[in-house]
Amino acid sequence: MSPPKKLAQRTPPLPSPSDPQPSTLIAQPSPSPLRIETDVACTVCGCVCDDLSLHFQGGQIVRVERACVLAEPWFAALAQAAPPAAFLGMQVATHEQAITAAVEILSHSQAPLIYGLSRSSTPGQRAAVELA
Ligand code: SF4
Repeated sequence: MSPPKKLAQRTPPLPSPSDPQPSTLIAQPSPSPLRIETDVACTVCGCVCDDLSLHFQGGQIVRVERACVLAEPWFAALAQAAPPAAFLGMQVATHEQAITAAVEILSHSQAPLIYGLSRSSTPGQRAAVELA
């Protein structure tokens, strides 16, 4: 049984990784030097496209290339967000505090469970496993 015609007409086509996507400006460029990272893996969906290019200025993403319609708003949100460096429990912490706490926890662990890296890059996941 096919979906009702009215519903089928309202359903937008699903994006495909092969859809050509233009370069998208997602934040206003600053006078800071431009840094471009190529072959960036996108972790928004399970396709994990690894051919995106991100342009950074002043530590902020200002442009993304080859992001699909799912990835584009996600990278735009990243560009707008200014999250704290880390949390310890529910408290905001610095990188140094988080690293000190991680070292303390891992040095007393016998079989640490690595969890929550679904949006981390492969090198980041490898580093976490090596750390454990
Ligand atoms: S969301 Fe990311 S991984 Fe998924 S198809 Fe789009 S660009 Fe590729």
